[in-house]
Amino acid sequence: MIKKRIAVLGSTGSIGTQAIEVIEKNKDHFELEVITAQSNADLLIKQAIKYKPNSVVIGDDKLYLKVSDALQNFDIKVFSGSKSISQIVEMETVDIVLIAIVGFAGLEPTINAIKAKKQIALANKETLVVAGDLISKLSIENKINIIPVDSEHSAIFQCLTGEGINPIEKIYLTASGGPFRGKEKDFLKTVTKAQALKHPNWKMGAKITIDSASMMNKGLEMIEAKWLFDLNENQIDVIVHPQSIIHSFVQFCDGSMKAQMGLPDMKLPIQYAFSFPQRLQTDFPRFDFLNYPQLTFEAPDMKNFRNLALAFKAIRSGGNIPCVLNAANEIVVNAFLNDKIAFLEMPEVIEKCMQTIQFIKNPSYEDLINTNNESRKLALQFIK
Ligand code: NAD
Ligand code: MG
Repeated sequence: MIKKRIAVLGSTGSIGTQAIEVIEKNKDHFELEVITAQSNADLLIKQAIKYKPNSVVIGDDKLYLKVSDALQNFDIKVFSGSKSISQIVEMETVDIVLIAIVGFAGLEPTINAIKAKKQIALANKETLVVAGDLISKLSIENKINIIPVDSEHSAIFQCLTGEGINPIEKIYLTASGGPFRGKEKDFLKTVTKAQALKHPNWKMGAKITIDSASMMNKGLEMIEAKWLFDLNENQIDVIVHPQSIIHSFVQFCDGSMKAQMGLPDMKLPIQYAFSFPQRLQTDFPRFDFLNYPQLTFEAPDMKNFRNLALAFKAIRSGGNIPCVLNAANEIVVNAFLNDKIAFLEMPEVIEKCMQTIQFIKNPSYEDLINTNNESRKLALQFIK
């Protein structure tokens, strides 16, 4: 295998730091070429000094001097600003771009990386929620494979490997149910961010952890799956599986089902996205059946967790509505994390935004930028 040079966008986050671990464990196969972060300059500097990438980018321009001063005695290029994050992916010496930025900000670098014909390892699900149609067309046009990092989508991708054009009947995305599984409205009304931030099976960034507690994460993942695997809404189902051992299922046209399973560890789908189609040896702990005598399944509760129903609605509406859902969600999650809004008010604001923003059936990139901006403003108004 030739060494693949990797740009890790969002290197200071949960996925980003685990990606660096994977690269460091497999130095014969991978090389860390670029790292970027938005505001965690201290960790970015530490990573740069330790791993000596070719270039680093700090998103927040105000932190440029801090980063460049700290790295002045090293042969490392330093840039700042979101434009630089988007442009650095075009670098000739980059083979794979891992998009581990959170939220809408992942969209522009993903588009640029596809246009520059880089292999894409996509952790950022918001990009496909906002602009799935556009990204799919671009990736076909540029003959670029988007390899999913999200564990459910990596599972489906792994189940599909070797299947050629065999028709998929449907897929089942598994959901842990998060920390509030089985809870009713009375309980959910007063839950705090501290409670919501305690995920039972995964340790992740704050935004996705809140999304998991509110079930929006699974809603976003349905839309992500639609575009990654070219499915319609009737082919996508969600099943709650609290142990998070089976990472998702594919059901084929003959009724046969394939599942991918293993202990929950994001390093596995990250590494697979880097090494595909090869598998590399790991020393990750192995699954032991006797520790899990029961794997259980239950229907998702869309009555108390309305985000899932809203995501179904967004998928059915299409056009710019998933973009509205995503933008409003980013605002309400941020508001919830800042104690500005209650847990059950989040879907209310999102729904109002989905009802208010002008529907666009075939949005252009500019339309999506506008929809994103307007939805954010509107969500902020509803919160006030
Ligand atoms: P995180 O909050 O831990 O890290 C986010 C990273 O993105 C940080 O490095 C931060 O500096 C950078 N960033 C934040 N805002 C930015 C901006 N505006 N511009 C540029 N960079 C910015 O998030 P995470 O949990 O690592 O998740 C990253 C993405 O991966 C999300 O889209 C999430 O849904 C997806 N994902 C995460 C996990 C997980 O286990 N953490 C699993 C599946 C999918
Ligand atoms: Mg997931």
